Amino acid sequence: MSEILRCRNLRKTYRDGSLRVEVLKGVDLDVHQGESVAVVGSSGSGKSTLLHCLGGLDKPTEGVVTLLGHEVFSIPAGTRDSLRNEALGFVYQFHHLLPELTALENVAMPLLIGGVPAQAARGRALEWLAAIGMQERSGHRPSQLSGGERQRIAIARALVNEPRCVLADEPTGNLDSQNADRIYDLMLKLTRERGTAFVVVTHDHDLARRMDQQYELHDGILNALDIRDIALASS
Ligand code: ADP
Ligand code: MG
Repeated sequence: MSEILRCRNLRKTYRDGSLRVEVLKGVDLDVHQGESVAVVGSSGSGKSTLLHCLGGLDKPTEGVVTLLGHEVFSIPAGTRDSLRNEALGFVYQFHHLLPELTALENVAMPLLIGGVPAQAARGRALEWLAAIGMQERSGHRPSQLSGGERQRIAIARALVNEPRCVLADEPTGNLDSQNADRIYDLMLKLTRERGTAFVVVTHDHDLARRMDQQYELHDGILNALDIRDIALASS
């Protein structure tokens, strides 16, 4: 399987005045095409920091992130931005949809930013809305949608560019278990059908178990989890 995303010896230390917070203390991770990876960890363990570093949004203090063979933090910022826009999709914990835009417009936005003509962008956004069962909500604004629907729209927006890898930060954190299940079903379907890789941060061990690989971020280190440990932890 071809490698999409990799990090080696990833370290991140925040300095706040005289205070030093070592959040990541040497994280290694490999993500291949079609792989789904779950990262669990308690609140404040550095999960969001890890995703931001992997996605080129936050510069690590030390270490290397490689996306499709390019060293993310060694290439010029402009090249990094276009690589990120082409190769990665982000799903944030709180959907970050634009409130004044409709569902369709929100989903089309990454395409418009990427220079796709409006008509084509609209068509592709509609296809994605259909794929997630939301075509009937295309004209709704975020405030007119339920939490689960908003999160599905956010996922469609992350996928509309057909990224090789999606980084999702607690994408189901504010959803009930039925809606959370639907989101995971959708992600795993895309993994199977399109080979999209997923790195999903979650504190839900039951959902983590459904991914191909499970890791726990603890004390700044990423440890592979045995599926049996997860069963014990959630029982
Ligand atoms: P998680 O997503 O697992 O809850 P985060 O990655 O958000 O954890 O945060 C990990 C730790 O880093 C926390 O202690 C948090 O307070 C600290 N932290 C995160 N971002 C910053 C920042 N910009 N400046 C200082 N400390 C930060
Ligand atoms: Mg977080």
